[in-house]
Amino acid sequence: MILSDALRAALLAEARAAHPRECCGLLEGTGKAVTALHPARNLADAPDRFEIDPALQFRLRREGRNIVGCYHSHPDGAAEPSPRDAQAASQAGFVWLIVGGDALGAFVWDGARFERLELGPERAPT
Ligand SMILES: [Zn+2]
Repeated sequence: MILSDALRAALLAEARAAHPRECCGLLEGTGKAVTALHPARNLADAPDRFEIDPALQFRLRREGRNIVGCYHSHPDGAAEPSPRDAQAASQAGFVWLIVGGDALGAFVWDGARFERLELGPERAPT
């Protein structure tokens, strides 16, 4: 999965700004690349939870945007899915980006478990 340096920096900055709460949002993109971040209001009451405002998803769908995944932060945790994330995951093929500290992890839900995804900026062909 391709994530540009600019989008990576924006995501880490959003996570820092939300600390000590979790930031969350949706990922627009293609099967190969994330092309935009769409920050969402976090509807969760607890600071260590996230719940993406469904209105955002409806709006993006109405605008014809291709949503390929979601992102959120673990303010004082690891850049890996928590057991709660596995419970919340439903859509197979959905990409999950998770920020933990200054690290960023990428995963795809395969319907039963998270698989780690390679994540990096696009390299010019050599
Ligand atoms: Zn999580």
